[in-house]
Amino acid sequence: MELPAIDLPEFAAGSVWLVGAGPGDPGLLSLLALHALRHADAVVYDALVDPRILALARPGAVLDYAGKRGGKPSPQQPDISERLVRWACAGQRVLRLKGGDPFVFGRGGEEALTLAAAGIPFRVVPGITAAIGGLAYAGIPATHRDINSAVTFITGHASDGELPDGLDWAALAKGAPVLVLYMALKHLGAIAERLIAAGRPAEEPVAVVSKATTPDQRVLETVLARAAADVAAAAIEPPAIIALGEAVKLRATLDWLARAPASVR
Ligand code: SAH
Repeated sequence: MELPAIDLPEFAAGSVWLVGAGPGDPGLLSLLALHALRHADAVVYDALVDPRILALARPGAVLDYAGKRGGKPSPQQPDISERLVRWACAGQRVLRLKGGDPFVFGRGGEEALTLAAAGIPFRVVPGITAAIGGLAYAGIPATHRDINSAVTFITGHASDGELPDGLDWAALAKGAPVLVLYMALKHLGAIAERLIAAGRPAEEPVAVVSKATTPDQRVLETVLARAAADVAAAAIEPPAIIALGEAVKLRATLDWLARAPASVR
């Protein structure tokens, strides 16, 4: 696959590129992400990076997994950041490849801060975040003039694994007509309760998009009050993005993926 003849920046030895791999579909990679995969000496990747994307790495590149291994806890974040620094100091072109966008709920900010503190040159390549990619592949516009002038991205999972109680759920419930939740499968029941208590309708439409943009994408449509029970009954697996609001109803007309012939999915 030839890259188009446009100038892309050099991936300099001794630098780190912090790159978003998008939600899964390799077709959603940016040209910069592909360029980085083609030139990296070391690729430090997370569990959410699609194997079809890793397969695009330069033959001979070292592939270093930084996610959970066999149920063991994930490496401590400082370890990953230090690994990036160590390899860059050794003169490697280091590609830090993250699912979605590196600066959206992905600790990319922490890693970039460590690189900055260590004086390592780095570049950030945005990726299509799961909320944007997942909603698009489920046929749900993130904004629509008749429905919402704001959309809120929320994490349903704090760094300690609990529901983020630092979040003002009542304010979030009132803040935007469309809410999109990351990492929210585990606490969905508790989140729904808080949102309903804060005034969101119990019958508000919800779409749960699991493994979005991959061949295993599944979309469950439900309503807020029943969302957690329906997710359990349907055995929906992570990763999943959860959209809440009237925009979900547009899927009835806009679910282009279900209508596409299998050969072009
Ligand atoms: N940086 C990533 C988010 C990392 S947090 C991004 O920008 O997308 C991990 C969460 O992202 C998952 O719990 C899930 O909510 C969401 N996610 C990532 N990939 C996904 C996918 N292919 N389908 C559905 N949700 C996904």
